Amino acid sequence: MSVGVAILGSTGSIGCSTLQVLARQRDRFRVIALTAHSNAELLARQAAEWQPAYVGLVNSGKGEGGRGKGPECLVEAATHPDVRIVVNGIVGAAGLEATLAALRAGKRVALANKETLVMAGELVTRAAREGGGEIIPVDSEHSAVLQCVAGRGPTELARLILTASGGPFRTWPRERIAAATVAEALRHPTWKMGKKITVDSATLVNKALEVIEAHFLFGLGYEAVEVVVHPQSVVHAFVEFVDGSVLAQVGFPTMELPILYALTHPARVPDAGTRRFDPVAAGSLTFEAVEAELYPAYGLGRAAATAGGTAPTVFNAANEIAVALFLEGGIPFGRIAQTIARVLDTSAPAEADTLEAVLAADTAARRLAREAACS
Ligand code: NAD
Ligand code: MG
Repeated sequence: MSVGVAILGSTGSIGCSTLQVLARQRDRFRVIALTAHSNAELLARQAAEWQPAYVGLVNSGKGEGGRGKGPECLVEAATHPDVRIVVNGIVGAAGLEATLAALRAGKRVALANKETLVMAGELVTRAAREGGGEIIPVDSEHSAVLQCVAGRGPTELARLILTASGGPFRTWPRERIAAATVAEALRHPTWKMGKKITVDSATLVNKALEVIEAHFLFGLGYEAVEVVVHPQSVVHAFVEFVDGSVLAQVGFPTMELPILYALTHPARVPDAGTRRFDPVAAGSLTFEAVEAELYPAYGLGRAAATAGGTAPTVFNAANEIAVALFLEGGIPFGRIAQTIARVLDTSAPAEADTLEAVLAADTAARRLAREAACS
């Protein structure tokens, strides 16, 4: 019997890569549900090819038989009875409710949508515990960690070192970075991804989000989650064990491998779709410390992580607003970090143990961010 899969955000970078993986694994998986935000044309083409039982378009669309519309379609797709695995490839906070619902319904969530683990880490991990669902990371660094720790108990794990490409501005002078254009920020050196995460990679906010993601996924304190800049993006993460031994997972950058592993974990299945690793072709691998002055938003994210409560929620919300404004041409690149700093400074700390508290912090931070960014 093949395993039923729902893909939330099927028209995005992660969604399209997931369908590419599934096209090579048709005997193991079948697509039960697809959802997208507004790209009705691509969604219709995907639906014609995969014939899922459920198709949902958040923004407009007609609610005919088997077709959902509005934000409710995400939860409907994620909790469909024939779905065992939900690939959450939605960008931003919009993916939260569907992740919570899927975990409460006991499903596996193959999670690319890291923003929701950052904004509501306690709630998401609790939903998994209480509902019997499991969170399997799609993010390449966290997939690397999961692959390295497979079979080891939490007490054997000492430290994680996540790698960061450093983004397009790693070698730029600081003054020039603050005035970088949208086109420059979207020119990622090693990965081809959606716009929001590409900007997050240029600010290194993406890595701060990933540090928080790692904390909630693997239960380590923040002092034990380190980051190193590795421009070639070949080593995805290092895992140090209590005896001092270090394992790493390596490969040419592609999301198809971590997506496939999230679907089959803990098993591995044959797949000939991705470029096989070749150390000679990979060439020299280099590692550098993160230069704090180049990436001010990274430090803000780490500080929010350590502060805990709703601080990560606020950090994520302020960043989502600032990045959206930057992509619209509304603010300069340097204003992203300034906006996040101001919002964190003016937000009152709170516990993040109820959905109401998290959503209130998220809403307030978005409002503050709009004010801070444009004043
Ligand atoms: P993308 O912009 O290419 O795609 C986003 C998808 O989410 C689209 O299908 C869109 O329809 C859907 N979406 C957007 N807003 C929505 C809303 N309000 N309601 C419902 N659906 C909505 O983004 P992406 O690069 O695929 O990234 C998706 C997530 O995966 C992000 O959280 C990102 O950080 C994470 N991620 C991506 C990559 C990558 O290689 N692209 C790697 C690691 C992690
Ligand atoms: Mg990543």
